[in-house]
Amino acid sequence: MQLVYGIILAIIISYIAYRAHSLTKNGAFMATLIGTVIFGIGGGQWAILLLTFFITSSALSRAFKNRKQALSEKYSKGHERDAGQVLGNGAMAALFAGLHAFYPESIVPWIGFAASLAAVNADTWATELGVLNPTPPRLITNLRKRVEKGTSGGISLWGTGASLLGSSLIAFLAALLTDHWSLFLLITFAGLAGSLFDSFLGATVQAMYYCPTDKKETERHPLHTCGRETVHIRGWKLLNNDWVNFACGAFGVVVALIGFAI
Ligand SMILES: [Zn+2]
Repeated sequence: MQLVYGIILAIIISYIAYRAHSLTKNGAFMATLIGTVIFGIGGGQWAILLLTFFITSSALSRAFKNRKQALSEKYSKGHERDAGQVLGNGAMAALFAGLHAFYPESIVPWIGFAASLAAVNADTWATELGVLNPTPPRLITNLRKRVEKGTSGGISLWGTGASLLGSSLIAFLAALLTDHWSLFLLITFAGLAGSLFDSFLGATVQAMYYCPTDKKETERHPLHTCGRETVHIRGWKLLNNDWVNFACGAFGVVVALIGFAI
């Protein structure tokens, strides 16, 4: 029965998000699939965590629109999330919901699930709120170097603060819903670590392109917002933003599980 409710809830939420232009059509299908696994297997408390991530991220993507307009050419995608982004952010969480079906008594799937969501939530909050930082961000691999706002690998006080808040919100719910308060610090730390790892990949091995018309670095490929074809300048071509998001969640999971084990 829970599976039926799960499918219905996943369809309703994905449809609303699609109509609100938070998801593309493919993104909505993928979100329905991932939502069904998480709601259907995990049930209520798992749904609360996933929806907290989904709703706050979608809302923050819309906030401060004017300030972000100038930056949208840098990011690989607009605020309508497609199937790749949904998978990058949610595949890890769905995997642990699946594990919960096999090990219903174990807390480990819940820790992995919460840590992956804390990491992608921290990363999204940092991206969306970091633009409010009054000064340009610094490169995570060389803190003395300032980079343009929106540059992958750039970190700021506002962005890191937002990251900590985004992570601790998921961690707080993960602790509250299971009454395991030792999870609060563990998940908060894991989420923050995942989001910093995301910035580190952005500064080092993430695929980066260049628009010859605007003379700017961008994640967009093959075409820039201006319509010009972008040229690969650094990073692994396979490691696009979706894979970096996936790695962000996976790193959060690894940190949380090591922390839990020791
Ligand atoms: Zn351009």
